[in-house]
Amino acid sequence: MTERELVEKIKTSRRVVVLTGAGISTDSGIPDFRSPNGLYSKYPEYVFDIDYFLSDPEGFYRFWKEALLPMSEAQPNRAHLLLAELERRNLIEAVITQNIDGLHQKAGNKKVIELHGSIFEYHCMECEKPYTLEQVKKILDSDTIPRCGCDGLIRPNIVFFGESLPVHALDEAMRYAQNCDLMIVMGSSLLVYPAAQLPVIAKKHGAGLIIVNKDRTGLDELADAKFDVNLSSFAEVLMQLL
Ligand code: ZN
Repeated sequence: MTERELVEKIKTSRRVVVLTGAGISTDSGIPDFRSPNGLYSKYPEYVFDIDYFLSDPEGFYRFWKEALLPMSEAQPNRAHLLLAELERRNLIEAVITQNIDGLHQKAGNKKVIELHGSIFEYHCMECEKPYTLEQVKKILDSDTIPRCGCDGLIRPNIVFFGESLPVHALDEAMRYAQNCDLMIVMGSSLLVYPAAQLPVIAKKHGAGLIIVNKDRTGLDELADAKFDVNLSSFAEVLMQLL
């Protein structure tokens, strides 16, 4: 399949859903987790364990300041902007993402399902009061651990290892996977559940599957077409063909 044929396919499909992973954000300067320069080359994998967060919130928030706060200032790249344009033209129904960086929303997408939560949202673990990233940042300017007025620990609304995915987001993602007629995967190696399960569900319900990812993925054999390319260059080509 050529890029031109893919654009035609998107335009002639009725319900297109896009699934994105860390690979779509690397060109925005966000390190992925497992690549040679990824987060895990600098920090131990347990920084995202819920047990670590609960036992050493101060340590977690030090990591947060160094690694996650800069992520919140990243800007969308051409691949994010392409998906925003596709939504504006009613060519895609939704973006399902494994990313917590909020870049799809920054690019302008309205329908975004965040499977792993967002670094922009927080809440108190005792009274559930919601907090924004800005509020947490402010508290951390004068304290080492963000605490609520009720003295509860404030946590990010992200899915730590050892926690289950938000049921509502997962249900919604499953519904989109079952009902779409074309699923496009961008920048995910499709090795982690449930992201890896969604294209399988889509395929089982008769949808086409396109994978755009630099390097192999766990589901290349299942795809109708695979583009092994840099995502933002690929997006630039598609944008011109739209
Ligand atoms: Zn509270």
